[in-house]
Amino acid sequence: MAVVENHTEYTVAQRNLSTQLPDIGKPRIVIIGGGFAGIQMVKNLRMKDVQVVMLDRHNYHTFQPLLYQVATAGLEPDSIAAPLRKVFDDEKNFFFRMARVERIDPDNQKVYTSIGEITYDYLVVAVGTQTNYFGNERIQKLAFPLKQVPQALNLRSHILQNFEKAVTSDSDEEIDRLTNFVIVGGGPTGVELAGALGELKKFVLPRDYPELDFKVMKVYLVEGLDRLLPTMSENAGKRSEKDLTERFETIVKLNTLVKDYNGYEVTLSNGEKIISETMIWAAGVQGVIIPGLEDATVEKGRYLVDDINRVKGYDNVFAVGDVAAMYTEDYPKGHPQVAPVAMQQGEQLGKNLSRLLKTKETKPFSYFDKGSMATIGRNRAVADLPGNIKFGGWFAWLSWMFVHLLFLVSFRQKLITLGNWVWNYFTYDRGTRLIIRPFNYRREVEQKKEQLEEKDHRNDEQKETHEVSQENESETVPGQ
Ligand SMILES: Cc1cc2nc3c(=O)[nH]c(=O)nc-3n(C[C@H](O)[C@H](O)[C@H](O)COP(=O)(O)OP(=O)(O)OC[C@H]3O[C@@H](n4cnc5c(N)ncnc54)[C@H](O)[C@@H]3O)c2cc1C
Repeated sequence: MAVVENHTEYTVAQRNLSTQLPDIGKPRIVIIGGGFAGIQMVKNLRMKDVQVVMLDRHNYHTFQPLLYQVATAGLEPDSIAAPLRKVFDDEKNFFFRMARVERIDPDNQKVYTSIGEITYDYLVVAVGTQTNYFGNERIQKLAFPLKQVPQALNLRSHILQNFEKAVTSDSDEEIDRLTNFVIVGGGPTGVELAGALGELKKFVLPRDYPELDFKVMKVYLVEGLDRLLPTMSENAGKRSEKDLTERFETIVKLNTLVKDYNGYEVTLSNGEKIISETMIWAAGVQGVIIPGLEDATVEKGRYLVDDINRVKGYDNVFAVGDVAAMYTEDYPKGHPQVAPVAMQQGEQLGKNLSRLLKTKETKPFSYFDKGSMATIGRNRAVADLPGNIKFGGWFAWLSWMFVHLLFLVSFRQKLITLGNWVWNYFTYDRGTRLIIRPFNYRREVEQKKEQLEEKDHRNDEQKETHEVSQENESETVPGQ
């Protein structure tokens, strides 16, 4: 019998769905995910000989490294989101369907999706990661994640609404709750977000809300390890901490974990409590695993792949980017989950699939690490380059901007983003302080808390029933 909860053939058939994908008589490569890896792959496939079908739950590519700028009113979403159909509108053999893939059926070479089933000759899983809450369901429900454009827009509305509320409040406690921001995770995302909030506090918001004393606005950055930017050099970590604390008065809490959050108050591992309606979770990610492949293909939330990104045990299934774990001598724990790895793997797999189709020899993947960077508000960034070259400050910031502009997908995005940055730089302004789609935080929090309570209640009931039946069993044993 089909397992309905697991999104199987049964669900798809019941929904009577159809994908209307034509059979063009060429091998079909289905790519799940139009992220950095998926896009590079398509660009490097010889499109003439194959039919390429790209599936994504969104109709756009998200440039995640700049999501924090959307959340802090620095950029509009269309600066960082590129419509996938437009990216490949010159390619005749390219077909896009907006669909969420729910299951892979490798025996029948099919994927089951929200719009119907699709067969493949080759399958490429390029689905990236999702936020990792390390099993804490309460935090998962109540914190703000920063992985997708709608999440960044919710956060932008929430931040601006909080200031609109704060300006009308006569309660110090409420003002604190509205203007305290807690960022969890001192990696590049956490540091960049803290810098952007610091800039809002220092340059932008005081002009909008002259009635508010901005000394009350506090930005906390909480990191479990003993320094910021743990994936970069010690120098970069120390420099970013100094910049954040000295320039923006960010309160950096190292060796500290978030223990609990109830939507209005954060409890830290040292017992400290911070009242805040905004806890942003930037503390980790885990691969998106689609049900269907053998369990043995997955390790630590990533698909195990060989040196051409082929999933262990399958001839025609591949995984690329953040979701792939390729263990090599240089990267015994797998490659870092960053955009350059995803792009280079996508490019190499595109070329290798073309070679495979022509029965030519494939070439193993080798990562060329060009270094890493993080920005800390205007004029400041840190950079670690290969060859132990480390630098920071204005030049690093310029390099950071240049690299990000280079990697944005379309020329239009590069132009809009550059225009916005130049405007922001000279005017100390942020043009997109708009509450277009209000976010009802309190309603969300209360609904989610109710759901959590209901679940706890159900669990307690189940536990009680289990205990009672165990007691009954043990009582009946002696008499048997
Ligand atoms: C906030 C943030 C900041 C970052 N900053 C940097 C940075 O500064 N520098 C850097 O190098 N890296 C950065 N990264 C990491 C970088 O974005 C990733 O390494 C990169 O996006 C991985 O590319 P990918 O193609 O593997 O996956 P993604 O780019 O995540 O693409 C995956 C795609 O799959 C789609 N998808 C997922 N599940 C399904 C499904 N079931 N069905 C259909 N479609 C699906 C998604 O919609 C998405 O479009 C950042 C990430 C985040 C979240």
